[in-house]
Amino acid sequence: MRKPKIVILGAGYGGLMTTVRLQKHLGVNEADIVLVNKHDYHYETTWLHEASAGTLHHDKVRYDIRDVIDRSKVDFVQANVEQIDKENKKIILDNGELDYDYLVIALGGEPETFGIKGLKEYAFGIVNVNSSRLLREHIEYQFATYSTEEEKNDNRLTIVVGGAGFTGVEFLGELTNRIPELCHEYDVDSHKVKIICVEAAPTVLPGFDQELVDYAVSQLERKGVEFRIGTAIKECTPDGIIVAKGEEEPYEIKAGTVVWAAGVRGNSVIEKSGFEAMRGRVKVQPDLRAPGYEDVFIIGDSSLVINEEINRPYPPTAQIAMQQGELTARNLAALIRNKQDLEEFKFDNKGTVCSLGEHDAIGVVFGKKLTGTSASFMKKVVDNRSLFMIGGAGLVLKKGKFNVF
Ligand code: FAD
Ligand code: NAD
Repeated sequence: MRKPKIVILGAGYGGLMTTVRLQKHLGVNEADIVLVNKHDYHYETTWLHEASAGTLHHDKVRYDIRDVIDRSKVDFVQANVEQIDKENKKIILDNGELDYDYLVIALGGEPETFGIKGLKEYAFGIVNVNSSRLLREHIEYQFATYSTEEEKNDNRLTIVVGGAGFTGVEFLGELTNRIPELCHEYDVDSHKVKIICVEAAPTVLPGFDQELVDYAVSQLERKGVEFRIGTAIKECTPDGIIVAKGEEEPYEIKAGTVVWAAGVRGNSVIEKSGFEAMRGRVKVQPDLRAPGYEDVFIIGDSSLVINEEINRPYPPTAQIAMQQGELTARNLAALIRNKQDLEEFKFDNKGTVCSLGEHDAIGVVFGKKLTGTSASFMKKVVDNRSLFMIGGAGLVLKKGKFNVF
């Protein structure tokens, strides 16, 4: 008898979690499982601010996908997904086509640029290993060039971060630790370096606990960050950015590096494939299937799940993507065994920790507020836990974070 074929697109938190759980739940004879990803490695998106600032080598944030899958049960295909033909149950890849009986779309998100002019051309993003490596090298290039040029261009040493959400703040924490090292390495006077964070909302980390936000702001200001709050980036140019505060006249900030960390949207494959979406994210059914497509699950940053308590979408996080992956694996196993009653997704929020650099952080964990080394310790526990859930103790030993103090 022909086995049903399950195809999982994306080997990030959601896709890899679905895969490793499915390979546990299903026997070899129950289904063919195919995992498709652009690269042959998985990267820890949640560590990319470190690779981007250069405080952690990019090889530390990635590992070989084949090391965590059971190759007797899962076929890995390295390919770029271009489109999904859901009517004919086919996936169009850059190097061929695949058909499926059941599909899991876990392709993650993409930066949301809100159509702001010049961002795609001139700003750097913290999106994947390639973009992080490029950003780190660009900052180093600016320092190296500054120390060789006769007529010094001080703007080279200005770094602007757009957005003081979690990504922007975590990057600032790493960057402020990295700058003294760069100044030492390239013989640059540290007083010449400027780090400016531009945030459109009236506060840093909008919506987060005010006491913890105040702690983060004072720690980052102490390490040299200048915040321009209530100020929106309007345009990015080869020389810097144009910003405006409320109704005031727009003005320019000259900078050698502009980092855009002001939000995410769903993967463009979603809209290209004709799914009804809000900013590239599909509002999924309670069992995480796409409305109208009983054979397609959508999880992670490309899905949208409403938090009924406040009637707003949950923010897209690794935590939610992994929990969705666990449920999707159980629901797929049920479908394969002809059970039609699928489980509904309930997000179990374990808290949020935001790093401020190697030994500092803020967070709310199981309802308790944390700052400093205790929060930083929790952040490393969370990082190691996600490695453990996907690759067990072996992966934690190979890639885990143990420098707790
Ligand atoms: P991803 O983990 O991004 O994986 C998507 C995968 O799909 C990737 O492997 C990618 O290569 C692949 N892919 C994409 N497009 C294609 C294509 N066309 N074809 C083939 N393959 C493709 N969340 C938390 O919960 N806690 C944190 O501490 C935290 N820290 C963060 C720090 C930073 C710097 C950033 C940027 C995000 C952070 N997040 C955090 C958010 C979290 O990383 C994302 O919500 C999470 O990665 C989403 O998981 P996912 O499975 O949807 O996608
Ligand atoms: P975000 O949407 O959370 O924050 C983006 C920030 O950019 C907002 O504060 C917004 O007001 C600001 N902004 C938007 N347009 C702007 C403009 N034109 N000029 C200036 N500022 C502007 O996005 P993010 O920080 O990239 O986070 C994405 C997701 O990843 C979120 O769900 C977040 O919770 C998650 N994340 C979690 C962690 C963590 O848990 N430690 C770390 C990073 C990211």
